[in-house]
Amino acid sequence: MSDAKPREVIVIGAGIVGICCALALREKGFDVRVIDRDGAGEGASFGNAGIISPWSCVPQSLPGVWKNVPKWLLDPEGPLAVRWSYTPRLAPWLLKFFRAGTFQRLPAIADAMLAVNRPSADMYHRLLAGTGEEGLVRDCLYLHVYRDIGGADPEDLPWRLRAERGVPFEVLTGGEVQEVEPELSPEIKSAMAVKRQARTVNPGRLRKVLAAMAEARGARFLRGTVEKIVPDTDGGYLIDTGQGAHSAKTVILAAGAWSARLLAGLGVRVPLEAERGYHLVFKDPGLPLAHSIMDTEHKFAISSMEMGVRAAGTAEFAGLDAPPNYRRARIFKRHAKTLLPNLNTGSTDEWMGTRPSSPDSVPFIGEVPGHPRLFCGFGHGHLGLTGAPMTGRMVAALAAGEPLNIDMAPYRLDRFNS
Ligand SMILES: Cc1cc2nc3c(=O)[nH]c(=O)nc-3n(C[C@H](O)[C@H](O)[C@H](O)COP(=O)(O)OP(=O)(O)OC[C@H]3O[C@@H](n4cnc5c(N)ncnc54)[C@H](O)[C@@H]3O)c2cc1C
Repeated sequence: MSDAKPREVIVIGAGIVGICCALALREKGFDVRVIDRDGAGEGASFGNAGIISPWSCVPQSLPGVWKNVPKWLLDPEGPLAVRWSYTPRLAPWLLKFFRAGTFQRLPAIADAMLAVNRPSADMYHRLLAGTGEEGLVRDCLYLHVYRDIGGADPEDLPWRLRAERGVPFEVLTGGEVQEVEPELSPEIKSAMAVKRQARTVNPGRLRKVLAAMAEARGARFLRGTVEKIVPDTDGGYLIDTGQGAHSAKTVILAAGAWSARLLAGLGVRVPLEAERGYHLVFKDPGLPLAHSIMDTEHKFAISSMEMGVRAAGTAEFAGLDAPPNYRRARIFKRHAKTLLPNLNTGSTDEWMGTRPSSPDSVPFIGEVPGHPRLFCGFGHGHLGLTGAPMTGRMVAALAAGEPLNIDMAPYRLDRFNS
């Protein structure tokens, strides 16, 4: 390599992860270009549930989760859908997903998730301080609500995992739940209230504000669809956009669910699945919510935002290119009404987004094996809004060759190869 500390970096992808990488790289003095095919940043980062969850350490794959799968799949309003024609392509990822959910692997997975998620709220607050946009990220509780009084059970495995890691939560029962969030139906009989959480009231605008901040701090934004990453003769990379190539010594791949396709061009395989989710915004909700709420029965989140009350969630496996099935978004109408009886569900907006999901819910962060100075920052699944600021910090430190006080082994791209 011609330069021991190359200063030119290209970030592929301007979702929340790419933007946080750009900000952290500028802080270290790198010359940063961000390439995205879509100027408006309408990827997963646009329409998520807005939960900034520093305490998230429970993966999607838990021991025994497979027992729920038939029930979920048979329910047309259930939280999981698979397009049957896609099943053969999904199978290898699914196998890794179920293998990740064992009692032996859980503690290391939970620790790795926590290390990425823990600083999130503080980092967002710090980024927004003094910008006039501080209100975009607000402190709140994260209420996991149950329809039976015994539902909020600290002895359940996910809550034991959290408790062992010092997550601050409290059991609420009976009217205590409605004291905290008055619009919740009396049918809600118990809740786990996770404290010291945050939420954004507009994920799309948060991404835009941070992108403008990165630009003001010297990052350059280019529009183009990256078709190939080609190793250059001098040790850097050519980023081929079809309309021309850009070269850089260091490349950060933060293209969300599309990242695996770009790595495949280099002969690198990574188990990344497009886990599609939907949202429904109730544009004239007629009520405010102060907290992020997770309906544990129907597995969706709901929260007040600038554009209304947004319900978001569900998992649909149909590949990257299948058209959306907005019936999956409309499911939220009935479920949200059972949660919030006073919700006005008349006028709605629907949206589909693609989570970049790894089998063990741990993102891929680090150098791509065999490709010096090509770093990955993708695979955050359900928690990319949360994990983005710390991912940026990790990627920038790796690019700068600075020591990180974190064991990076759990984030390795090749961890599923053995
Ligand atoms: C319904 C739903 C609810 C969610 N709720 C939450 C939540 O409450 N909290 C939370 O923390 N997370 C949540 N998530 C997850 C979170 O939204 C994602 O993990 C996160 O947005 C991923 O960010 P990203 O930057 O990696 O990807 P994206 O936001 O998808 O960005 C990837 C970018 O790469 C660009 N790109 C892709 N391919 C190319 C190419 N070839 N050339 C150029 N550009 C390219 C795309 O245009 C896009 O802008 C939710 C997700 C969904 C779907």
